[in-house]
Parts: sequence; C-alpha cells; structure tokens
Amino acid sequence: MVILETKELQSGYQGTPVLHDITFQVREGEIVAILGSNGAGKTTTLRTITGAVRATGGSVIYQGQPITKKPTYEMVRLGISLVPEGRHLFGQMSIRDNLLMGAYKEKDKALIESRMDSMFEIFPRLKERLDQLAGTLSGGEQQMVAIARGMMSAPRLLMLDEPSLGLMPKLVEEVFDFIKRINHMGTTVVIVEQNAGDTLLMADYAYVISEGEVVLSGTGEELLKNDEVQKVYLGLV
Ligand code: ATP
Repeated sequence: MVILETKELQSGYQGTPVLHDITFQVREGEIVAILGSNGAGKTTTLRTITGAVRATGGSVIYQGQPITKKPTYEMVRLGISLVPEGRHLFGQMSIRDNLLMGAYKEKDKALIESRMDSMFEIFPRLKERLDQLAGTLSGGEQQMVAIARGMMSAPRLLMLDEPSLGLMPKLVEEVFDFIKRINHMGTTVVIVEQNAGDTLLMADYAYVISEGEVVLSGTGEELLKNDEVQKVYLGLV
C-alpha cells in the first residue's frame, strides 16, 4: 500500500519557485531516500509535505487522502513525524524531558513510558543517560535523541532531514542502524540525505532531485550502480 505520495508538487519562498515537479511514492514499511546536492530542494520537499511551506501546485496524498492544504500542527495527529535538520534539541533539558516533548499530545503516562522503553530497547545508551543534559551529548547521541523524540508520537511515517550531517563515518553507521531498527519495528521512513552511498545501501527505493525536480529514481541497488549517481553523488568514475 502506498502511504505517501506527492504529485507534481511545486512550492517556493517569497514568490521564487524552488520545487518545480516533485513526484514520488512511498510504500508502507519501506525506507525511501530523497537524495540531491546542496540546495536541490530536499528540505523544501519535506517542509512542503508537512505544510510548513505552502504548496503552489500539485498535491500531497497520505493514506489515500489529500493533505496538501493541512496545517503543520495536524501532522502528528495524522501519524507523520519530522526530525528536522540540525536536531533542534533543548540543550538545557535532560534527555528524558526532550523525549517527553515528542509525546506532548499524549496524556496516558503508561503509554509514554512504553514508547520510551521501545526506544531504549534499540538504543540502550539513551536509558543510561536519561538525566544528562541534551546539550552535553556528542553529535551522534544528539541525533539519536532527536530521532527518538520524533518517535515518541508513535508515527506511522517518520521523515528525517539529513540525520548524518556533521557526523563521523562510525557514528553515521550507528545512526543509520538505529533508523533501520525503527523501520523493522514497523515505521515507514523517508530520509533526505546528501550522503548518497550509505543511504542507498539502506534504502528500499530512492529518488534523486536536482533543481526542484526528480531526475532519477530506482531501488537503492539500482542507483548505486547508476553511472550518473556514481559520478555526481558518489564521486566515483
Ligand atoms: P541542503 O542540503 O543544503 O539543505 P536542500 O536540498 O535541502 O539543500 P533546500 O534547503 O530545500 O535544499 O533549498 C532549496 C532552495 O531554496 C535553495 O536555493 C535555498 O536557497 C532556497 N531556500 C531554502 N529555504 C529558504 C527560505 N527560508 N527562504 C528563501 N529561500 C530559501
């Protein structure tokens, strides 16, 4: 089943078009990657899906229903969670309090605890450091907290904006492993990345965007073998 679909999506800033034609599909249970260079429109694509940037054309369809004009605050209720680029943690708050912020709509304390427990199961280090201030964590750990916070609303669809940004290769591996486990637990993932190599190894399907348009698509495996991807995005050939 297709859980999320955009059709000829267009948007921009202050009258300047950025997205010209973004069409893609995400099937339930998959990890779908959106790749592209700096300024290609990856973040704008996520922000247009969540309504933070207004679509000027085309549509966003979620679970068969158009959500193109829905306000951002409706996303959590719909089951969509976005982990923004740059983590945006509350540095002066503990890990626990940061995680609780992700479940702010939920009143049931037992449910909140059980969601936290399922994050500890796949990333035990969070549990050991629950009272540590988020601002004192390493970059990789902060990214894990940001992702775990995004999971605290129990989304069906988790969207991640450049989770590997600024991380050493070893930590990228750890963060991607965390994402894979979340996916195995049943959450569909859309990941925006510049790090094409690692992302394609993990993705079921990927779209490459350039100047606000989808220019290539295929399975992770297919795109890893693609000449254009090897040359432009992997620095090979
Ligand atoms: P990066 O990997 O550098 O984050 P990206 O593919 O996510 O790149 P976007 O952030 O979506 O790209 O930016 C696409 C274009 O939109 C760029 O030309 C950028 O300058 C422009 N842009 C992004 N945000 C704004 C904004 N708030 N106001 C005006 N222009 C913007």
